[in-house]
Amino acid sequence: MGDPGVDSQDVRRLVPRTDRVLADPRLAAERDRLGATVVKRAVTAAQEQVRQGRIDPDAVVDTARALLPPAATSLRPVINATGVLLHTNLGRAPLSAAAVEALGQAAGTTDLELDLATGRRSGRGAGVAAALLDAVPTAGAAHVVNNGAAALYLCAAVLAQDREIVISRGELVEIGDGFRIPELLEAAGTRLREVGTTNRTSLRDYSDAVGPDTAFVLKVHPSNFVLSGFTSAVPVGELSGLGVPLVVDIGSGLLAPHPALPGEPDAATVLRHGADVVTASADKLLGGPQGGLLLGREDIVHRLRRHPIARAVRVDKLTLAALEATLIGPASPTRSALGAGEDELRARAEKITAVLASQGVDAAARPATAAVGGGGAPGVTLPSHAVALPPDYADALRGAEPPVVGHLDQQQCLLNLRSVPPDQDERLIAAVLSVRPR
Ligand SMILES: *Cc1c(COP(=O)(O)O)cnc(C)c1O
Repeated sequence: MGDPGVDSQDVRRLVPRTDRVLADPRLAAERDRLGATVVKRAVTAAQEQVRQGRIDPDAVVDTARALLPPAATSLRPVINATGVLLHTNLGRAPLSAAAVEALGQAAGTTDLELDLATGRRSGRGAGVAAALLDAVPTAGAAHVVNNGAAALYLCAAVLAQDREIVISRGELVEIGDGFRIPELLEAAGTRLREVGTTNRTSLRDYSDAVGPDTAFVLKVHPSNFVLSGFTSAVPVGELSGLGVPLVVDIGSGLLAPHPALPGEPDAATVLRHGADVVTASADKLLGGPQGGLLLGREDIVHRLRRHPIARAVRVDKLTLAALEATLIGPASPTRSALGAGEDELRARAEKITAVLASQGVDAAARPATAAVGGGGAPGVTLPSHAVALPPDYADALRGAEPPVVGHLDQQQCLLNLRSVPPDQDERLIAAVLSVRPR
């Protein structure tokens, strides 16, 4: 192939016809599994390689097979070696094996809203609500919506339509990709009554602003930045005495205090200190699927749950299944990553480095730091260990199988192990070896 004597007309004649290739039994089984669209796409790509003279016409079927994705989705599993535990670009929290299994169980027809004993309709999401109330005994009721932003939106639209939400100027947070909490609240048809200043807000600022038009006071956790220096904010315990409901957006979804994250608010404590409703994400520190939690006073949560907008931000059976398993099952990968000991991380870095070095890779184990990320525990650094590779590996590894995303630091490609679940170490090694220069 690529013979200059063969003109393009000839090459075109050499390209095996699509229907013939698709009929090959080696591809027929894949078509049953992945669907015709996916298989045809791979065949088209393989035919293109014949046209370019890169493969023989005989190799079209095998090449197409090699190009097939492992599943009928363009989303691919990626190893997160960035050292950021919750990376929004990488899908935030990885699910536990128990949650993945629960997804599979719920994927078909399931008793989502049917009581199998009586044959009557049952409450959707009752299992998750019970698990949440078990985990947060200070909550009177719980409800789950699509994400943290939806939880906050629902509170605003239902409780504060055409009324005021009192909020500190230090808490007008942009949560990412240009989305801003104040704009979300206004989009729900509410008015913001901003109080205090960027760095300091006092109880007096709040109490002066609260009036007949106040629907609730909102406290938002500044989850992705740190304010330091001459600052002050009013604790939840003091805001709960203002005579209007207090809604607290804690952001990251910790249900109870975590010893490694002393500054991170948790739902149980915030409710105990008098918040009426807490909102949070399910796919940050809680370690579950994308979701938004609403926990708090029974009468308010019930109102939220029955409002028409609740239907527009409702979660599906897959979310409910994975979230319940996250709540009642074994520790999530996020929780395990948070709790991983330094010795364990160092041992993994040294072991991986030794394997790679024995195969001629210029690798070294070195200490590193990790972060929670994804809108949680800003400013907190977690000690970690990494495998350091030459910088060229950073680009190459994104193209590996599986793709690995590392972190460039001081002219080194660091594979930070705190964000890599230990059961992925073998795959990480294989990915590095697959792209090593020979
Ligand atoms: C992350 C975050 C949100 C948005 O939650 P999503 O689940 O991403 O919609 C809202 N508020 C705070 C404080 C957050 O940290």
